[in-house]
Amino acid sequence: MTGKTKRFPLSLSSIAGKSSRTAHGDSVPSSGTATPQTATRNAAGNGTRSTTRSDARIAPAAVPERSTPMVSDAVRKAMVARVAKQGVKDPKVLAAMEAVPRHFFMEPALASQAYIDASLPIGYHQTISQPYIVARMIEVMRDNANGGVLNRVLEIGTGCGYQAAVLSLLAKEVYSVERIKPLHELAKANLRPLRIANIRLHYGDGMLGFPQVAPFDGIILAAAGLEVPQALLEQMTMGGRLVAPVGSRNQVLQLIERVGKYEWVTTTLEDCHFVPLRSGTV
Ligand code: SAH
Repeated sequence: MTGKTKRFPLSLSSIAGKSSRTAHGDSVPSSGTATPQTATRNAAGNGTRSTTRSDARIAPAAVPERSTPMVSDAVRKAMVARVAKQGVKDPKVLAAMEAVPRHFFMEPALASQAYIDASLPIGYHQTISQPYIVARMIEVMRDNANGGVLNRVLEIGTGCGYQAAVLSLLAKEVYSVERIKPLHELAKANLRPLRIANIRLHYGDGMLGFPQVAPFDGIILAAAGLEVPQALLEQMTMGGRLVAPVGSRNQVLQLIERVGKYEWVTTTLEDCHFVPLRSGTV
């Protein structure tokens, strides 16, 4: 673990207010009250859930505003402390989580919940992943024989672009594929003000991987299939590590390491809950 965590070229304060999104003030979120580990339920409940905020982990004064970076910095630090307490140890992953303004990736009505440990709706029945699981997957992927160095990483399921932003601080090149066109566009819009040079977003079916730029020394799936598509296994480098949720109702996080041309080793890590991996594009 050497070297410093990269910082975005712009400070948070210099981008605050430049986005086309409106400020959200201190209004009560209109949809999608969050509970931990409920990605699919949150997604399915988008727009139909109760507006009661029973989650008291964020004080009302701590509503993260684009125009008040000091406040969101403090709340984000608290989020990272919780993620560490849940068992994520890799300091570089924790530093990257601290550097990325998660509230930039949420619609204004939900930005006040950006730093609680929950997945939250981003539209189209999809979710931004829970901070803990984002950190955990990246930590597992980084735990390679290369001392954590990642040259080329592939993410399946860009969603709003949050995890891609975290990955950009930990890998030389990040490729992220999304199958829902409006979410691909949303991620582009969310990432643009952060001016991250090493992310390439691709609209397509991630079950096919990204053969044009393969192989990858790290692959992360942000959506759960019944099994990991063969195409992805074949697009891993030798020694490459793929982290994916697998299953339907009951899902587990799996680490798959490529140990030979035709040989992969699978380790089951823990239970998890993700939106489904689907084929084709919409
Ligand atoms: N990475 C996101 C999580 C997004 S949720 C984050 O940072 O929070 C998972 C995403 O996977 C959804 O946007 C969904 O549309 C996408 N997805 C599901 N199946 C896919 C596929 N075959 N190819 C690409 N994206 C897919």
